[in-house]
Amino acid sequence: KFSLDDRVALVTGGGSGIGRAAAEALAEAGAKVVIVGRTPEELDETLAGLGGEERGHISITADVSSELEMGNAFATVANRYARLDIVVANAGINGVWAPLDQLGVSEWDQTLAVNLRGTFLTLKLALPLLRKRGGSVVVVSSINGTRVFSNSGATAYSCSKAAQVAFTKMTALELAKDKIRVNVVCPGAIETNIDDSTERRALEGIHLPVEFPEGDVPLTGGQPGSADQVAQLIGFLACDASSHITGTEIYIEGGQSLL
Ligand code: NAD
Repeated sequence: KFSLDDRVALVTGGGSGIGRAAAEALAEAGAKVVIVGRTPEELDETLAGLGGEERGHISITADVSSELEMGNAFATVANRYARLDIVVANAGINGVWAPLDQLGVSEWDQTLAVNLRGTFLTLKLALPLLRKRGGSVVVVSSINGTRVFSNSGATAYSCSKAAQVAFTKMTALELAKDKIRVNVVCPGAIETNIDDSTERRALEGIHLPVEFPEGDVPLTGGQPGSADQVAQLIGFLACDASSHITGTEIYIEGGQSLL
């Protein structure tokens, strides 16, 4: 039941962090994996780690917020595999974290475009292939936007992450008749490089903490979780072991949101 032999999976943001770990876990379970991302060097590295194209995996450079680029990506998948069973909508950015009056409209739009429009486009464009046999979609949201609101300034990020949960539930209901399951995982502090590109802007006197303050993860005494731990959950939701689960949000955060 945990086998993904003969399945084809697509992972956005597959060049690093949680996406790379998910691609590895799905490939290990037997799936052919398509990794999609915006940075070719990262994708090359991930693809090589999977064993390359000889093993049936491919990488595609595309911006998830672009309808055109994602349309081309799914045309490539259709030509190459003629099927798709698993979609992991994982690509995301932290974007600009700033007090409201310092947050520009284009900055707000950019975060929503990648995190929310990207999720929408990924599932919408995957539908013709997913509908052939049914499938499993896993959206990667966050505890930010659903349970934890301590990162002041992360307003656009949190709104995009909350909306991904609503998106999951709406589409799970709509697509159940097509035997397409849609679930969302909400990680807490996970060790990746996502924070490196975050632009934090603080007004004097306003506290803008770094994401996930140390000491706030009960299960580990403050240590963040690993991308691989999230990948194992994604693998479970992708395979038939979870065949009766849809529309569910699952938290993976070491008890962080219990505090
Ligand atoms: P990461 O930066 O390593 O991964 C994000 C990936 O998405 C990168 O490979 C990046 O190149 C890609 N990406 C970004 N914008 C893109 C675009 N427009 N088009 C295509 N690809 C794009 O960070 P991560 O922590 O692995 O993040 C993965 C997901 O996990 C994100 O959605 C993030 O919000 C979520 N998340 C992360 C944490 C954490 O603590 N790391 C916690 C909760 C949720």
